[in-house]
Amino acid sequence: MAAMIMMKRNARIALMVLLTAGLWLALKPTIGNRRLTFLPVRWSEYVDFMDFWFNLGAFGLLGITAWLAFGTKEKILSRAFVMVGIITLLNVLLELVQTSIPGRAVDMADLWAGLLGCVIGIASGLVSQRLMNGRHPNNAVPQVLFLDQTGRLGGAELMLLDIASARAADSEVILFHDGEFRAALESAGVKTRVFRLGDEASAVDRQAGLSRALRCVPGLVDLMLRIARAARSFDVVYANTAKALIIGGPAAKLAGCPLVFHLHDIVADGHFSALNRRLLIFCANTFANAVIANSEATKAAFISSGGRAERCVVIPNGFLIPEVRSTAADIESRRSSLGIPPDAWIVLMAGRLAHWKGQHVLLEALQAMPDAHAVLLGDALFTDEDREYARRLHVQAAVPALAGRVHFAGFQSETLPFFDMADVVVHASVFPEPFGRVIVEGMLACKPVIASRAGGAAEILQHEHTGLLVEPGNARELADVMMRLKNDPKLAADLAQNAQRTAHDTYALHAVQAKIEAVIRETACCENEQAPVAETTAQIRQAA
Ligand code: UDP
Repeated sequence: MAAMIMMKRNARIALMVLLTAGLWLALKPTIGNRRLTFLPVRWSEYVDFMDFWFNLGAFGLLGITAWLAFGTKEKILSRAFVMVGIITLLNVLLELVQTSIPGRAVDMADLWAGLLGCVIGIASGLVSQRLMNGRHPNNAVPQVLFLDQTGRLGGAELMLLDIASARAADSEVILFHDGEFRAALESAGVKTRVFRLGDEASAVDRQAGLSRALRCVPGLVDLMLRIARAARSFDVVYANTAKALIIGGPAAKLAGCPLVFHLHDIVADGHFSALNRRLLIFCANTFANAVIANSEATKAAFISSGGRAERCVVIPNGFLIPEVRSTAADIESRRSSLGIPPDAWIVLMAGRLAHWKGQHVLLEALQAMPDAHAVLLGDALFTDEDREYARRLHVQAAVPALAGRVHFAGFQSETLPFFDMADVVVHASVFPEPFGRVIVEGMLACKPVIASRAGGAAEILQHEHTGLLVEPGNARELADVMMRLKNDPKLAADLAQNAQRTAHDTYALHAVQAKIEAVIRETACCENEQAPVAETTAQIRQAA
């Protein structure tokens, strides 16, 4: 591999030397005869001046073309060939214009050479374009390079795990950090590489300001170039997070690859700083051929922040419908391993520990329900603020009114048994949730679900039919609604059954994967044309 890289480098150097020598020989007569004037006065001097620049342009493009010929995208190659052809044609026309200058005649040898160069350039461009189309016909499976900034397993990563696993033979994933996500991808048979992001750049989160963002530029540029090199052997780059878009967008452009951006966040205050919001929208509008939003709320926030509506399509997360659920004995043993009494009413809250996820709201509500126990599934995954919040939650859980009733289960890769042992699943985000996978997981487990009335959560649950919605951050209302479910088992059972039916119909993984694959294929076929998703959006609406 190293020998190959060395050979390519030497070949490029030799080529550049040859091209420079050719350029010198081609331009020498013009320069040597002192016919070239950089500030032309007479008509004939303008012609020489143009002649010089056409030659220079043609040689420059020829150089770039030859350079690209060593292992990069053929589409750049074909465009460069066509450009060389056009420049040479202009040169020929210039040669003809010279006949109108008194005392000047057409140099027939120059003319024929120019015409030949023009035909060869344009023909090579068209042939390489045709060969390229033959290599990636519309019905071939596009090769996709997925990018994700984290090695941890958040909701966006679990969705990507499902997408990439289903097309493992035609995909590769690049992560900017190592972690359990890489292990999960590899055990699903997905080729995964870690291109580590420098510490400066890693420290920049979605709330970062200008000075912190500027300090990480060198690390970002380095990563971008490495991704651009990797992207050259793929048909589509698929950015799964905001940082993946900001770094992967320019990289995909450099590699001549179209890009799909999967937007899992609500682009608004509370989730992003103003600067990061602008940067994300700029990158999405400039580099993404298609944007997949995980809910209508996510799409609406994207558009109202300046994102292009015509490129954005809503596709919810998909879920594998579990065929086997926990037995009564499994549930019993899990309860006792957590130290929960057999007759206790269990409230499950699943998801990473972060202030905006609202675990503190549930603990506050729990104070009004002396017999209930809460299980908090998940950990602080991403930032120091989250870790600090987790510490404060432990303090809150230790107050006498809650002592022994709050069980921190930590991050679990197997979540099903926890949903199965719950009496109710609560989602309490204080900011609008972009999607809310845990809500659908609760529905699939046939549990009554209570969620905050905002964002994607309010789209998933139909109030009083498939679940109950409460005002975000209102612990009193949450306590009242939990009490209502505890005292009315029939209502709880009806809500749970309606929810399970709806979840089966709407969020089956194979249907969601098919929609995402349609966007990928359409993007791969449309190459760099903008707005390719309009048709797909229509198809998806039709299918729905
Ligand atoms: N989850 C998990 N293990 C845990 C806690 C949560 O695998 O210990 C999963 C949970 O089942 C859900 C995802 O993490 O699939 C969280 O997704 P959600 O959309 O609720 O929140 P996000 O992390 O995307 O903000």
